[in-house]
Amino acid sequence: MDPLHARYPFLAAARESVRSADIGLAEIVVSEGDRHPAVERGRQRVRRALIDGTVRPPEDAERRWGTSAELLSYPVARVLVSLLDAPGAVEKYASAEADTAYERFTSDLENPDDGLKSTTTSAITLDDLLAEFDLASAVEQRGENYRMAVGDYLALSSGLSADEWRLPVRQLADGTVVLKEAELHELLREATRRRIAEGLPLAQVPDPIREGLTGVIEELEDTFSEVELARDIDTLAPGQFPPCMSALLERARDGENLENHSEFALVTFLASIGADAEDIAALCGTEGLGQRALQYRVDRIADEKGSQFAPPTCATMAAYEECPVADEDDPTTDERCAEITHPLVYYEEALAEADGVTDWREA
Ligand code: SF4
Repeated sequence: MDPLHARYPFLAAARESVRSADIGLAEIVVSEGDRHPAVERGRQRVRRALIDGTVRPPEDAERRWGTSAELLSYPVARVLVSLLDAPGAVEKYASAEADTAYERFTSDLENPDDGLKSTTTSAITLDDLLAEFDLASAVEQRGENYRMAVGDYLALSSGLSADEWRLPVRQLADGTVVLKEAELHELLREATRRRIAEGLPLAQVPDPIREGLTGVIEELEDTFSEVELARDIDTLAPGQFPPCMSALLERARDGENLENHSEFALVTFLASIGADAEDIAALCGTEGLGQRALQYRVDRIADEKGSQFAPPTCATMAAYEECPVADEDDPTTDERCAEITHPLVYYEEALAEADGVTDWREA
């Protein structure tokens, strides 16, 4: 199996490679003995997508997945997310898969000669991506910028709500829209998200597969109920934030470009306590969290149906090395942190115990 397909399992060629390998899903799911690695990685994929907003394996994971398990875990994850009884699961899953693909392809495009390509086929090119989404003839490079045919631009940008994607504010030239390279990459992320969401939830899952995955589904639902927190907080009081979120907020305000998982943690936390994109931009400033990226995040993280991502738990924050209290080199201590397992619970308790909190938006 091709490592490129394992990194980008939504590619048509990856689907074909699974088909031609002639490994049936039922065979993987219903196998005797230990859980098949593709099922275990599929479970991890969905869990990570719904809780952490990424499908990358955790960086400190002991287990490394082979190419075949990685590739086969994608169809398993699609079945799992279709069977899950969790609000917004499909949307969150598709966004997390697309965000992970975006991280990978922007890295591949920035470092086409990093040595990977000469020994393996795991790196993707811009031409590959454009061809994959039928955009090869719709996109043309002109100097440092690109031009995309208006029809294709409108089709892709319709899912993006930031003002800068509106056609009236775009520079047009000969029936094309002028795009910076980063904007083209964001449209490709959107194309990826749509490809992944296509056909989900699966209309039919054969009974043997459904039954074979019962235990995995129960495990996933247990995990989500652990982070299903009271969501009636609608007070933005930075003075009551837990140390982890205060630190991330300070770094964003200082203009630091936060890593994806850190940005995800901060934005999900803020969205969970009732902040919208405008509040978040005003609170964080738009240097650390670029305005366009921020709008994308908030759109995906806190949709109108209220099917938000929960921010990561304290254990996940510690694994990301974003919990100052758990960091042995950081002198930060906090008594409340010793009692709780989630930054939202910290905040809820801090608000309840504080006297006369003023909402930052009303100050
Ligand atoms: S213990 Fe939890 S709430 Fe406290 S700083 Fe660490 S991650 Fe944040």
